[in-house]
Amino acid sequence: MKIEMKTPLVEMDGDEMTRVLWGWIKEILLEPYISLKTEYYDLGLKERDRTDDRVTVESAEAARRLGVAVKCATITPNAARVEEYGLKEMWKSPNGTIRRILDGTVFRSPILVDGITPYVPGWKKPIAIARHAYGDIYNAVETKVPGGSSAYLVVCDGSGKEISRQKVHAFSGDGIAQAVHNTDKSISDFARSCFNYALSERLDVWFGAKDTISKVYDHRFKDIFREIYENEYKNSFEKAGLEFMYTLIDDVVARVMRSEGGMLWVCKNYDGDVMSDMVATAFGSLGMMSSVLVSPDGKYEYEAAHGTVTRHYYKYLNGEQTSTNPVATIWAWTGALKKRGELDGIPALPEFAEKLEKATLSTVEEGFMTGDLIPMFKKEGVTPVKLNSREFLFKIAEKL
Ligand code: NAP
Ligand code: MG
Repeated sequence: MKIEMKTPLVEMDGDEMTRVLWGWIKEILLEPYISLKTEYYDLGLKERDRTDDRVTVESAEAARRLGVAVKCATITPNAARVEEYGLKEMWKSPNGTIRRILDGTVFRSPILVDGITPYVPGWKKPIAIARHAYGDIYNAVETKVPGGSSAYLVVCDGSGKEISRQKVHAFSGDGIAQAVHNTDKSISDFARSCFNYALSERLDVWFGAKDTISKVYDHRFKDIFREIYENEYKNSFEKAGLEFMYTLIDDVVARVMRSEGGMLWVCKNYDGDVMSDMVATAFGSLGMMSSVLVSPDGKYEYEAAHGTVTRHYYKYLNGEQTSTNPVATIWAWTGALKKRGELDGIPALPEFAEKLEKATLSTVEEGFMTGDLIPMFKKEGVTPVKLNSREFLFKIAEKL
């Protein structure tokens, strides 16, 4: 008997090697066990081009409506892709479009396996990272300043009348200046997404900024987080036995390094850009990094953190077997099935998802894995065996 679903998942198909894996995961690991109910959107580049990218918008609107989506990696076109696919336009990043429509925050979390030791040996549990994806230097204006001139920060009201003016610097020699901004709304949405995710995953929240130096700007982040925590989340956190800690960013870095992991590390935009690459590398392969977009009102879109693995796809098109790691994409499905089951009150779905995750991990732990993991795998008495993607999926199915 297959597991029946109630509400469909929003299924966002994608490109290249991950599109191939997508089909295989459904065929080998999902459809034999679940009467899979999805609302299907093809975000493959050809279909985005054919629909003038409407399909991306429609899929994001479906995620708003149904609440849970699972997404395959997609190509973000550049000039070379415009030529390769004969595109009408250099369409925007689908992830950017979906993030804008859901107004969400991206959380990344490594998938830990016994046998793959993080570069930081003290890290025993995953460290999830939340990156605020709006503002700061990513939406900055900047300029060169010739020596002998002055730069000012000027604020005007709606009619253009000056409200305030501060001297940034009087330059004796040539220099540079930059103005950054953020909005209370974006910071508040970010805070709510972080607290929701932490509650959903049962993680403590650590947030660091530099409010001692940036007494208005970073301090605003600190105040908004504190206020939203106190007013909206404190009770639920205390009930769940979780804590929210704010401290200086340098203190957070030191604490994370000597921790066991197991927390949500909330980062301002730049910190998240840098630290997510550090954490991902320290835990191993891109093929083992999962990712979820959470909106402030609790809509979820699950995906792998990696891209479409183009290099492997061209080998595949040449008829070669590839050993592309499907684990992060499997986790996108298990994450979505767990959440859907939770929301619809179907415990069989999260139970199945847990079993699939366990089967995947023990397959690797017993030495069967894709090529990317081989050089990192060290476990006494186990000699790792490299499988191609399909063999690996069948090995997981055996366990399942
Ligand atoms: P990528 O697809 O993540 O691949 C980069 C390299 O990392 C691969 O060539 C491979 O290394 C390794 N790798 C990544 N995932 C792997 C996996 N599951 N198994 C084994 N190895 C893996 O990044 P990219 O090559 O920079 O980007 C390719 C396309 O993906 C681009 O068109 C980009 O726009 C898109 N992209 C999409 C998303 C998304 O949809 N979320 C994110 C990032 C990039 P080796 O070649 O050494 O084996
Ligand atoms: Mg980065």
